[in-house]
Amino acid sequence: MALLDLQRRVEARVPLPACALNVDRGPVVPQPGRALLRFEDLPIEWSDARYLLRATADLLVRAQALEDDDHRRLLALSREGHRLEPLVEQWYNATTTWDPQGFTPPRIPPELEGFDQLFAVALRPYLFRCAHALAPQLDLSGWRDSRCPMCGGEPELAVIAMSGERALVCSRCGLRWPTLEDVCPFCRNDDRSQIKSFASPDGRYRLDACDVCRRYVKAYDERSAPRPAMPAVDTIATLPLDASAMQRGYRG
Ligand SMILES: [Zn+2]
Ligand SMILES: [Zn+2]
Repeated sequence: MALLDLQRRVEARVPLPACALNVDRGPVVPQPGRALLRFEDLPIEWSDARYLLRATADLLVRAQALEDDDHRRLLALSREGHRLEPLVEQWYNATTTWDPQGFTPPRIPPELEGFDQLFAVALRPYLFRCAHALAPQLDLSGWRDSRCPMCGGEPELAVIAMSGERALVCSRCGLRWPTLEDVCPFCRNDDRSQIKSFASPDGRYRLDACDVCRRYVKAYDERSAPRPAMPAVDTIATLPLDASAMQRGYRG
């Protein structure tokens, strides 16, 4: 929760992105395999971002989600002038192009693998701000990729609306895009007998695990819930579902 507070504080200070897509040409249709937001579009103010990276690293290392060695390396880099910026850019560029078939993940340079989660979490306020500002210009009706068209992130939650429509929510920028029921978003397996579902006791959350690619996605069903989905809260509330899926050999 300390992390959410920190991100909210920074997000409130992030300026509007200078990356307005060209509205004159009508709605933007994203292309599979490449995120719309380029690194230079992000309104990053580096003194804020360096602070956010250090503070996020402190929290992740305490939660044992960042190795001590990577933590020390990050602190050293953040003290040395402008050495962090090109690394964050390199990481972002590596994670925003991918195989649209979904079989090979983006290639992160080996020296940056330890920073993957840290960079993704620390860039969230900037990505959220951009996604929120630009989402109304997108035509997502045909988007069937497992990754986010805005930033290339993977979905962290599916939301089932009162209308029964399903959307995936990006783990990095919060953008939502439509998805189909009973289809694995990662490998597009649509054989219902190859998808196992687990539900929370109150029926509010569900987890669909695919036996073809062994991945799973959690879902929040607004039809049987007293409030709309709140992905930042719901992903934490569903950690017991993650644990039971991982015990069965599935991956989030
Ligand atoms: Zn995204
Ligand atoms: Zn699958």
